[in-house]
Amino acid sequence: MASKMPAARDANGNRITIEMAENGSFEKPLKCEFCDASVSFVNGHPREVGEDIVFVEPFFRLAPKSTHHEGCNYNSVGQLTVIARESDGDVFMAISNNQFQLRLLAVKKALDQLIELAKTKKSLTDDKKLISQQKEYIASEEKLGAYINSAKRVLKVRSVCENHAEIENLLTLVFDGVNVPWSDFYFEDTDYFRCYRQLKSSTTQIPIAVHGTIKSIKTVPGKKENFSVVNLVRPMRNMDEADAREVACTSIWSPDVNFFSDYREGQTIIAFGMWQWKPESRIANSKANSPIKTFVNYEMRLWPVAKSQICAA
Ligand SMILES: [Zn+2]
Repeated sequence: MASKMPAARDANGNRITIEMAENGSFEKPLKCEFCDASVSFVNGHPREVGEDIVFVEPFFRLAPKSTHHEGCNYNSVGQLTVIARESDGDVFMAISNNQFQLRLLAVKKALDQLIELAKTKKSLTDDKKLISQQKEYIASEEKLGAYINSAKRVLKVRSVCENHAEIENLLTLVFDGVNVPWSDFYFEDTDYFRCYRQLKSSTTQIPIAVHGTIKSIKTVPGKKENFSVVNLVRPMRNMDEADAREVACTSIWSPDVNFFSDYREGQTIIAFGMWQWKPESRIANSKANSPIKTFVNYEMRLWPVAKSQICAA
């Protein structure tokens, strides 16, 4: 198990930051800053996603066959053990040594309950009922908050791993007694088209996590009220039609125009919850000189009920 690390230690015992590593100001070999595991430096690089360039931040990586010491801050087992200790067992627990389980049904139920309560709250007129409903709402909100928070902490452990393989032997995802592969739960921009296919074809919707870079944050006028929208960078792919491109459009919506005020363009985030898909739509390219005439958009949207469904990654 390995995390991407923001610092390391060199042969002279000096703490080496990313900036120092970029300047080559260190003595090989590099080790973990907290234990004796061998690490190496990985340079940052730009990556193309659709019409955007996303910058992959530089980091230190664990050397092959090397492992962090049990008590090391970068040991994922250690991190997950702490999360399990501080979580409700209904949602996240240690099932044996070095084996953990995240229960997605509990998260889905809590989300559903909160949405229902928000609806009934709007339609209530009787004062006494309103007060008892509000108490229920607050209790559910707290429970949901704790569940989402545990899930969010687990997702953060995943986000510093380089791939699913690093976490899937350690952490099982379960929905209603059935194991869910990590690849069906956690999607990076290279997987958005597969994510769309899954949302469209599955009969049972499960909460999923979408990882991506913020392309834009906009206010969109609706019929009655305005919405705040975060668009993530959009991967594209070629089609049989030479002048058309398929586009995977993921966006996060809220009627609260300040919902995303903590976030900015270019930031990497994880958005977690019950994502929805919309039927594909064909849009003419507004750039007249472009060889691409048509975009076929595959839209996926999340309407979070709690701010903790989104986090910086
Ligand atoms: Zn270490």
